Amino acid sequence: MPREARVDRRRYLQAIGGTVATLSVAGCQSDSGDSQTLTAGTAPGFPPFEMKQDGELVGFDVELLEAVVAATEYELSGWEELEFKSLIPALNNGNVDVVAAGMTINDERDKAIDFSDPYYSSNQAIIVRENGSFSPSSLEDLSEAAVGAQKGTTGESVIKDQLIEAGTIPESQYNAYGNYVLAVEDLLNENVDVIIIDVPVANSFVADRPIKSAFVHETGEQFGFGIQSGNDELAGALNSGLTTVEDDGTYRDLTEKWFGQK
Ligand code: GLN
Repeated sequence: MPREARVDRRRYLQAIGGTVATLSVAGCQSDSGDSQTLTAGTAPGFPPFEMKQDGELVGFDVELLEAVVAATEYELSGWEELEFKSLIPALNNGNVDVVAAGMTINDERDKAIDFSDPYYSSNQAIIVRENGSFSPSSLEDLSEAAVGAQKGTTGESVIKDQLIEAGTIPESQYNAYGNYVLAVEDLLNENVDVIIIDVPVANSFVADRPIKSAFVHETGEQFGFGIQSGNDELAGALNSGLTTVEDDGTYRDLTEKWFGQK
């Protein structure tokens, strides 16, 4: 498709009102016979990036990816909801074409998949019960603690690499969860003493549960959309889509909407 056609379609979507995301899924593609359809994958339970609200998948990642894809020649056909640790396998076996799941770009994952340019930064928060007596201020303070994280995450890597490998805790003090909602429930039930979780997601849990952030472990992570290894065409399209939504204000609107007020 010539560039003007692409730009025109985007302008059209913008002109008819702020629901570019919905339209990209619902239709409006009569002019793009040569476009390719993408199935997106995510793992709800990671607010405000992706979660279920009244049975519906919502969140920053959901709206961002939909806006980004709407700015490309691709079309989003729908979302698959999986456990976080199943997302990379789902990309590799072709069940999904793109992952939007607050997924940190790192070397280990880079061996299995490719990533778009980064779209969000994060560190790891160590969260505890708000009214509990345990208030650690460093990883060393966790030597007696039962610690939890979601399987396959960088929070889990902090536990494995910096606590277990380092000899601060034995493996038996680590509790792995299928998702962070279950992990936070177990924290409230006093089955674990701390959860290690991405800062923006910790903030979201802290806002409506009796928990608090004890300290932040700086990891300098960056989130990217995951795609199949070697799909340079899709990587290029997503990256130029990201530039478009950054330039036209959509990215800023979405960060205000999902991270603006707690
Ligand atoms: N950013 C973390 C990671 O990539 C957690 C992502 C998530 O739980 N959805 O491992």
